[in-house]
This record gives sequence, C-alpha cells and structure tokens, in this order.
Amino acid sequence: MAIELKTKPKSPQGQNVLLGKSLQELTEWVQEQGQPAYRGKQLYQWLYEKGARSLSDISVFPKSWREEVKDYPIGRSQIHHRSIAPDKTRKYLLRLQDGLIIETVGIPTEKRLTVCVSSQVGCPMDCDFCATGKGGFTRNLAPHEIVDQVLTVQEDFQRRVSHVVFMGMGEPLLNLKAVVSAVNILNQDVGIGMRSLTISTVGLPAKIEQLARHQLQVTFAVSLHAPNQALREQLIPSAKHYPLKNLLEDCHKYVEMTKRRVTFEYILLAGVNDLPEQAQELAVQIRGFQSHVNLIPYNPISEADYKRPNSQRINAFLNILQQENIAVSVRYSRGLETDAACGQLRAAKV
Ligand code: SF4
Repeated sequence: MAIELKTKPKSPQGQNVLLGKSLQELTEWVQEQGQPAYRGKQLYQWLYEKGARSLSDISVFPKSWREEVKDYPIGRSQIHHRSIAPDKTRKYLLRLQDGLIIETVGIPTEKRLTVCVSSQVGCPMDCDFCATGKGGFTRNLAPHEIVDQVLTVQEDFQRRVSHVVFMGMGEPLLNLKAVVSAVNILNQDVGIGMRSLTISTVGLPAKIEQLARHQLQVTFAVSLHAPNQALREQLIPSAKHYPLKNLLEDCHKYVEMTKRRVTFEYILLAGVNDLPEQAQELAVQIRGFQSHVNLIPYNPISEADYKRPNSQRINAFLNILQQENIAVSVRYSRGLETDAACGQLRAAKV
C-alpha cells in the first residue's frame, strides 16, 4: 500500500534528501515520521558509517516502517561506469538523481585512500589545458552530492577514505557555500580530518578571502601554472579579471587570516611554462611566502596540444626552485590510463 510521506522529497538539487543532514536533523526527521528519537542515531550511523543506499537497507528499522519509507530519497548516486588503472586508481562516472554524470577518482596507496571529488557538473572556467573546461558548465553540486562521492569510493574500495581533494570537475570557490557545507559534513559526520581535506582553486576575486573567513583548517591549494600574468591569462582565461599580483596578495591575506600556508600547484607544460628562466621568475614571485609548490608534470589530453616535459626538464625546474629556497616537490600523476577528464584531477596523487 502506498503511504503518503509526512515530509515530501524536493528536487535533486533541493536539500531535502537525508544525506547531508546532521544527527539532530535526522532525529527530527524520524520523529516527524512518527518514530522514536533513537532511530535518528541509527539512521545517522547507517548513512555515514555503513553507507546505506536506501532506507529499506536499514535492517535495524522495523520492517513495516522500512516498507513505508523505502522510496524516500537518501541522496545517493549510481555508479554509471568504473575503470581501474594498472596502478589501482579507480575512476568513476556517477549518475546523479537528475541523470547528470560527474566524475570522481579514488587513489589508493598503502597508507591512504584519497578521493578526488567534483564540486560542479562541468566547469565554466575554461582552462586551456583541461578537458572538463572544454565541456562547459551545467550546474553546481549540492553538499550531499559531494559527500556521496566519498561514500561511493569508500564502499567500492571497502576501505576508509583518509583524504579528499576538491580537484575534480568544477571550480570549488564558485560553489563555496556547498563546498564549505560538504567539508563540514566530511569532517564531522564522515570523520575525515580537516587537514586531510584540500580545497583547490584557480583563484577568483574576493572568493579567497570569503573562504578564509570560514577559518577551516583545510589544506588550501591555488593553481598558479604560470610565473607571470601574460602566460597565466593564456592558460587560464579567467585570470584576465584577476591579475597575478592581486591573487598573490589575496593568498598573503589568506595566510594571515588562517595561519595556514598555501600550496601552489604548477602544471608543467613542455616548452610553455617549464623553462629555467620561468622557474627563476616563479621563485621571485613567491619568495618569502609561507607556501609549498607542487610541480605536476602534465598528462596530455586529446583536446589540447600541450605536452609533458621530459624528466631532465622537470628536474631542472625543481632544482632551480630548491636553490632559491622554495619548498617544492614533484607530484607524479596517477591513473593516467583511466582517462580522467580534468587536468587537475588527473594529477591528484596526494
Ligand atoms: S582546471 Fe579546474 S578550474 Fe580549470 S577548467 Fe578544469 S575543472 Fe575548471
């Protein structure tokens, strides 16, 4: 018999799915459904620890009530496609409730399981080296759609996720409210340490300060990719509206406000931004900065003409920065063969 639910589900982007709700909100919800308050705690554990995909999975609930609420939307996606690279990196295409597809990557090492999450469906930033940027933008993700990606990878690997990086599809600072909310859920409800969460941006005016005001103890990464404004504009069209000088000033402010260092990401593109003089120029730009530089040798995509530098060029760039006393490391890509779509995402070995 179809039973009318006391709280109606909203649209896929609406917040009225269960995933993403706090313990208190879930407790209120079960009470609205005429159940005792302790069922809220059970629901919370099944959502965030056991990764329940449907209320009918929750075997501690009475059978008759499970039957009543079995169609209530929890907010989980479906795995549309999964590919596994020889290095065990897994790329997922996830189908959201409204049928749109996003991608997520699970990157295992002996000690860590890192998830590279998307924050938008597509991306409006149009970075020249990025496959996601070439595909345009559709919509922002809701907090539960970000959290779902982590739970999906956790379930598929049958292992706890230790780190999350916002380096998949989308520019996280364009969806700041949902990203901050997802960060808090991942920390408080899924149990991932704040410092193991990384928010990465290409930089947007005023947004870095907005993020700093939240005082999250997350790792903050800024995609520089160029040592000067002219080249940055070529690689990241949105940089036209945000001069490198202003971006670096805002990064300084971020360090002051949060007392946390900034990570600078620098994708190395052969013959474009990997010359010795460009390493020198970069060193001058960020000298004295409380920062760490990640050099990421580029993974070629068919839509762009860029190439990956050889190891001699990579090492030469690295050595110059080290001689200039810049804290720097090279991050080699994982899961190249999985053909993950975003330039940042494919570089996400953490
Ligand atoms: S690199 Fe990131 S910000 Fe740039 S287009 Fe790709 S997804 Fe968007």
